[in-house]
Amino acid sequence: MSLYSIKMRASAAKKHISGSEKIVPSNQIAPCVDQLVRRGMSHSKGEPDQLSVKITKIEEASVLSFDALPVRTVEVDDHHAGLDEIRKFIRSLNISRADEIIALLSETYAMRGAMLLDVDTLERLEPDRERGVRATCMDAQRTILPPEMEKNHFAEAIVLATKVAHAPNIIGELCISDDPEYVTGYAASLETGYLRITKLKPRGSENGGRIFLYRGGRQEVDKTISFLQEQPVIVKNIPPLSPPGPPRDKFAFLDEALQNIRDNHLYRSLKTIQSAQSANVRYQGKDMLMLASNDYLDMSCVDEVKAYAAQILQQYGTGSGGSRLITGNTDIHERLEEKLAAFKHTEAALVFNTGYVANLATITSLMGKGDVIFSDELNHASIIDGCRLSRADIVVYKHNDMDDLERKLRENPCAKGMIVSDAVFSMDGDILNLPRFVRLADQYHLLSMVDEAHSTGVIGRTGRGIVEYYGSTCAPDVLMGTLSKSVGSEGGFVCGSRKLIEYLINRARGFIFSTSLSPVTMAASLKALEYIEEHPERVHALQENIRFFCGCLQQKGLDVHSETAIIPILVGDEQKAVEVSQALFDAGFFISAIRYPTVEKGSARLRAALMATHTRAQLQAAADAIAGILREKEI
Ligand SMILES: *Cc1c(COP(=O)(O)O)cnc(C)c1O
Repeated sequence: MSLYSIKMRASAAKKHISGSEKIVPSNQIAPCVDQLVRRGMSHSKGEPDQLSVKITKIEEASVLSFDALPVRTVEVDDHHAGLDEIRKFIRSLNISRADEIIALLSETYAMRGAMLLDVDTLERLEPDRERGVRATCMDAQRTILPPEMEKNHFAEAIVLATKVAHAPNIIGELCISDDPEYVTGYAASLETGYLRITKLKPRGSENGGRIFLYRGGRQEVDKTISFLQEQPVIVKNIPPLSPPGPPRDKFAFLDEALQNIRDNHLYRSLKTIQSAQSANVRYQGKDMLMLASNDYLDMSCVDEVKAYAAQILQQYGTGSGGSRLITGNTDIHERLEEKLAAFKHTEAALVFNTGYVANLATITSLMGKGDVIFSDELNHASIIDGCRLSRADIVVYKHNDMDDLERKLRENPCAKGMIVSDAVFSMDGDILNLPRFVRLADQYHLLSMVDEAHSTGVIGRTGRGIVEYYGSTCAPDVLMGTLSKSVGSEGGFVCGSRKLIEYLINRARGFIFSTSLSPVTMAASLKALEYIEEHPERVHALQENIRFFCGCLQQKGLDVHSETAIIPILVGDEQKAVEVSQALFDAGFFISAIRYPTVEKGSARLRAALMATHTRAQLQAAADAIAGILREKEI
């Protein structure tokens, strides 16, 4: 059966009111004309004084057929935000003059057709500037004509946009409707698809227009125009017409996720402490024994530390005013870094705003695409995030298993890479096999990086961490740590060679693009490190407490071992762990339950964290309570 193009156009006083077109088989001409005429006669803009219908036979063989562009709706708050989306779209096409192109839209308001714009020179290429170039001779594919051929902006726009996107040398299209009630417009290209932008003009405005974005030679303009105006196109698979409908609840995913978390007994909430962070705290109006703090040496409450921080507060004020490279570098910052380097026996040190940022910034600046990072499966989240963000290949090896690490090093040869590990693992409290770790890194010419968050101030004869623990016989290339745990303050740090620190200052984004910590915080860390150096008995008291507490629990028949301030007491089931922790809270012991996703599913545990200032009597009472409740709950 032959195909026909049917075009209807209605006007009043020579002004366009409405127009529409279809491509139909010959047996559908009559009903189609009927509907188009009715539509032309009943437009909201008024009754026409002229209505024409033009019926033209087209060669079926000449018809091209395309799949509709995929549609993506971009919800925007107002038309300014909508135009921002257009700007982004234009830039995504590698066009630099987005703002000028958007401004040109206003020149198309009075045109029947579209502007044909050379996107590089901004020359207008349409032969008739008043009329513009029209894309015609296209329709949606349908087997039978729908009974109600309602005007549907959306479907018609997709048909047009799909045809235009396939025109030679057209790289994109911008469109705002001139219908005052229709504020949704679009940007479209073959690459991006059809971006339906919910607001592109204020309601009530008749300012609509269209630009075809052209990139190509002048001699090909005619070919483009002829495709747009004459090439018959049928568009298939138009997505279901989605009327605006009731607005979806854009927050629904939050409710679903939270419910899911609750259903799995993984819901977390904040606990409010109403006192200083020390061995004894006030929580919900009750005095509790703190067995969950990382302030292992109880440094945040040492008088000398507080007094020095207060003095610096008076002298320097509260904030640093800028990043380290701009205004935020004081002599206190530099003194702290000198102290850190001396404390860890390295050439130099650099302070970051948190340990988390130190890991992110250090790993991402040292490693990149094509490099390989070998990472312990139980490494801290900040190491994992740093590895991911670096875009290096990540090879995860079994926890503290140097044989597995060696196997993976052999299997994954690389030109540049790093091995990274916690020194003391934050959930299990066990200690990295540093000598073998460093040997393997050297043997395979990889950087070695160790996170000393839980080893600084805790292990080693004078609390200097993992290097001292192993008798200072070996040291990693990158020694990272935090000031927020046993130093009792805030901030992260990296210790290493002068060259490494110089590199980080110049490359670590987390260092460069963040306001530095206040001199007050630096002063607290500085004085705390001095204090730890001058009072090794504080470290010894912590180490004695660890031995004593583990002994108490072992006497109660619990299989508990640790050389560090982190003492895991395995429970297993997530819900049971929460119940045990709750019972301990009720009994006055502040002790955390650690669950998935912090640890593996089914390996939920109590995580007791000891402090140098816990007394033997307190630790004995805590051990008794823990053993009692575990027995009661049959764990
Ligand atoms: C706490 C911790 C960090 C993060 O340090 P913050 O200073 O708290 O940001 C990094 N690594 C490990 C192993 C940690 O336990």
